[in-house]
Amino acid sequence: MKIYNSLTRSKDEFVPNEQGKVSMYTCGPTVYHYAHIGNLRSYIMEDVLEKYLRFSGYDVKRVMNITDVGHLTSDGDTGDDKMLKGAKREHKTVMEIAKFYTDAFFEDCRKLNIKRPDVVEPATGCIDEFIKVISSLIEKGYAYEAGGNIYFDTSKLNQYYVFNDFKEEDLAVGVREGVEEDSNKRNKADFVLWFTKSKFEDQELKWDSPWGVGYPGWHIECSCISMKHLGEQLDIHCGGIDNAFPHHTNEIAQSEAYLGHKWCNYWFHVHHLNTNSGKMSKSSGEFLTVSLLEEKGYDPLVYRFFCLLSHYRKSLVFSYENLDNAAVSYNKLTAKIAAVLKDASGEVDKEAYDRLMKGFTDALDNDINTAQAITSLYDVLRDGTNGATKIALIKEFDKVLSLGLVEAAEKINAAPETEELPAEVLELAEQRKAARKEKNFALADELRDKITALGYVVEETRQGTRITKK
Ligand code: AMP
Ligand code: ZN
Repeated sequence: MKIYNSLTRSKDEFVPNEQGKVSMYTCGPTVYHYAHIGNLRSYIMEDVLEKYLRFSGYDVKRVMNITDVGHLTSDGDTGDDKMLKGAKREHKTVMEIAKFYTDAFFEDCRKLNIKRPDVVEPATGCIDEFIKVISSLIEKGYAYEAGGNIYFDTSKLNQYYVFNDFKEEDLAVGVREGVEEDSNKRNKADFVLWFTKSKFEDQELKWDSPWGVGYPGWHIECSCISMKHLGEQLDIHCGGIDNAFPHHTNEIAQSEAYLGHKWCNYWFHVHHLNTNSGKMSKSSGEFLTVSLLEEKGYDPLVYRFFCLLSHYRKSLVFSYENLDNAAVSYNKLTAKIAAVLKDASGEVDKEAYDRLMKGFTDALDNDINTAQAITSLYDVLRDGTNGATKIALIKEFDKVLSLGLVEAAEKINAAPETEELPAEVLELAEQRKAARKEKNFALADELRDKITALGYVVEETRQGTRITKK
C-alpha cells in the first residue's frame, strides 16, 4: 500500500514500525462551534484510511484529541482564545460549550458513518503531561521563559520547516497585518508552549504550573496526547492541510526535541473543501453543517459519497449543484444494487470475486484513491458474474466506504410501489422540485404545505422525494 507522505513529498510504501500494527493520531476538532462540512471532509477521508488499514489486516489504534483549550483565533499565538469566544457568544461556561460541541461533533460523525477513534482525549484532561514535557524541554535547552510565557526555541533545531521551504521572512505568524509582533520571542518562528500573564485576564480555564498560573498552547496538546497513548513512535499522523504549518511543524519540533529521535513516519493531509468564494471556515462565509444539509433534504451519506468521488489530495469545491449530482448518482447506484439484491442467491464465484476485489484494493493501495474505488464498485455491477458474488463484494467494499449501500438497497426493495398521485399534486411536486433546484427553499416549503393540505405526506428519502397519501 502506498500513501503520499507530506514529509517526503512522495508516495511511499506504507511500512509500520511494528509488523501488523498501526498507531494513528488525528487532530480532533476545536469544540467552540459546530464542525462545518469542510472539517468533516477531513474526518471522512481519514475514516476511509483507517478502515482500509483495518481491511488490509492491520491492528489499528487510533487516537484523537479534543481541543477544549489553547487554540487561538490564529493558528499561531495571536488573537483570542476560540473556546472563550464561543463561551461568550453563547453565555455559557467554556466546559459547557466544549461538552455541547463535542457531542454535536460525534453526532455528525455518526450520521456520516465515521467510526469513533479508539481513544478520544480532551486536552484539559492532560495538563500534567503538558507540564512534564514542557519542563523537560526547558531542561534540555529547547524552551525558554520570556514575559511570563514559555516558548519553544526553533533556532535550536537543525531543520524546523519540515513540510515546506518557508523562509523566516515569509512567516506569517507575528507579522500579519494588524497583528502585533510578540517581542518576547527570540526568533519569529518560536511558539508558545505555556501561556501565563501575557494573555487574557479573563481566561476561564487556568492551571497551576512551575511558571505560574496559565494554560497550554495548542500544539503541545497533540504531541503529548499522542505520546501518552501511542508511545514514542507514531506511524501516521492525520489532519487537514491547513494544519501542516504551523501546527504539525510545531508538533514535530517539540516531540522530536523531547524524545531525541524521529517521532512520526507518515503525514497524511487532507486538502480543503472550498466554496466558490474560498476556503470554508467556521468564522467566515456561509457556515455549512450536516444539520443544514439535512434540513435541505440531503442524506448525510450523500455528502460522504460526494467526498469519496474526489481524491483527498485535491481541493474540492462544494456547491448544491455538485451535491445534487452526487445525490442522483447515489440514488442510481443504490437502485442498481437493489435490483441485484432481488436475485442474489447462489454461490460466490471465487474467480470473479478475486478479480473484482483486486480492482478495489488496487485503487485504495494507490494513495487511497476513493474515486477509483467507487469506479470498481460500478465494475462489479456491470460484470457478468452472479448476484451472490456482486452482493458479497459490495458488502466488503462498504466496510471501507461506509455508504450504507446494501441497507439503502434493502429499503428500496421494501418500499411499497408508488401510488398514483392526482395531477394537482404532481404539478405542485414538480414546482417544488424546480424551487429546490433554484435554492428557493421558502417557496419549496410553501409548496410542500400546499401538498400537505391536499392530504399527502412529503418525505425526503435517500432515493429522492416520496409523496404518499396520509
Ligand atoms: P478545527 O476544528 O478548526 O481544529 O479543525 C478540524 C479539522 O478540520 C482539522 O484537521 C483541519 O485541518 C480541518 N479543516 C479545517 N478547514 C477545512 C476545510 N475547509 N476543508 C477540509 N478540512 C478542513
Ligand atoms: Zn493537532
